[in-house]
Amino acid sequence: MRTSRDAAGELLAFIDASPTPWHACHSVENRLKQAGFQRLEETDDWRLMPGMSAYVVRDGSSIVAFRLGEPSQGMRIVGAHTDSPGLRIKPQGAFARAGLLNLGVEIYGGPILATFADRDLKLAGRVLTSDSAGSFKSHLIDFKRPLLRLPNLAIHLNRDVNEQGLRFDAQEELPLVLGSIAEQVPAEQELYRLLADALQVEPEAILSWDLAAVDVQPGAFFGKDEEFIAAGRLDNLASCHAGLEALLNSEPQAATQVLALFDHEEVGSESYKGADGTFLQDTIVRIAAALGCESASDRRRLAARSVLVSADMAHAVHPGFMRYYEPQHSVRLNGGPVIKINAKQRYATDAVGEAYFGWLCREVEVPHQKYVHRNNLPCGSTIGPISAARLGIRTIDVGNPMWAMHSARESAGTHDHDMMIRVLTRFYGDTTQLQG
Ligand code: ZN
Repeated sequence: MRTSRDAAGELLAFIDASPTPWHACHSVENRLKQAGFQRLEETDDWRLMPGMSAYVVRDGSSIVAFRLGEPSQGMRIVGAHTDSPGLRIKPQGAFARAGLLNLGVEIYGGPILATFADRDLKLAGRVLTSDSAGSFKSHLIDFKRPLLRLPNLAIHLNRDVNEQGLRFDAQEELPLVLGSIAEQVPAEQELYRLLADALQVEPEAILSWDLAAVDVQPGAFFGKDEEFIAAGRLDNLASCHAGLEALLNSEPQAATQVLALFDHEEVGSESYKGADGTFLQDTIVRIAAALGCESASDRRRLAARSVLVSADMAHAVHPGFMRYYEPQHSVRLNGGPVIKINAKQRYATDAVGEAYFGWLCREVEVPHQKYVHRNNLPCGSTIGPISAARLGIRTIDVGNPMWAMHSARESAGTHDHDMMIRVLTRFYGDTTQLQG
């Protein structure tokens, strides 16, 4: 029998195979293809048949998959994000300093920078090349070995580090060490040669890239009963994976099932492939047409019958820092999925959605928890409120509890992942019309 540990193990393998949003999208696409989902191109005319399972990708890192159902039952949508905060390599980032080949980085989103120090970092992402005919080709690349380093400064030179915390000046102190370099060798040439060798192309063929510095350490279980997991990018690949598993587990049901995974959440979602862009809306218009909802009025009726569950991770209580949590709403690892609630709509959940998600959990005998942020700390947000506003669809913000969100190595509960998959599977199979 498949256990909750098995589900967590599958999640860790998915994360290991997905160092960047482009890889995450590729991992999702592979699973969808195996399950018989058909790839659609936004440039094509879609000929969708009733009951059809298909997916569409925008720029390699956002993906919407769906299984068509009955128009009168609306849509059951699960949303999550493929990106994680970290360090991205600048386009002309290579330079020599102190006999070392340095790589300048930009900070993507809000990583805990100190956690990137002294870790074995690899390069991963996508590289664009041109062939002799002048056409572009995008390659996924993952070096899978320690390549880069952000060394700490010895405590003898940074005496206050334990009182003040580890701080980096983003411009001067954050460039990563890629190797040593002789004085007469141009730094850029070394980087291009490294990439060209990996891709088996000439260095001159390399045009551009989206490359990240990513921890090479594979995911692991920890704790006396292996009741915890540690990995990079649990936020939010855990929710991507839970949504994917739920969609693949689901039988065709009366409602149209949609999985929408977006890039760019960590930088505000405002882009042509982010949740604040048109991607999901554009795709829903085409899904609606396939369901026979051609007019604006029909599309509105479809949206009004739909529910979106926005899944992103939640902050589990940290035993050493209890003072940072709202005592009535502190949530625990392995305590089950968390419903996220915020009166200022940093989370989109309303009372109806809260009641509905709690009911879904009870239906599959999974406990659930409710998170509210402290009043005296600014609350984070996610794709839920953005999608709710863009689509006019009732949205519930949920997520599994975790520690150390935005660390290079985050941690979570082993058993929560399977619980989330079960609840989302139940959600995809449900046709309750929410009123109120
Ligand atoms: Zn997130």
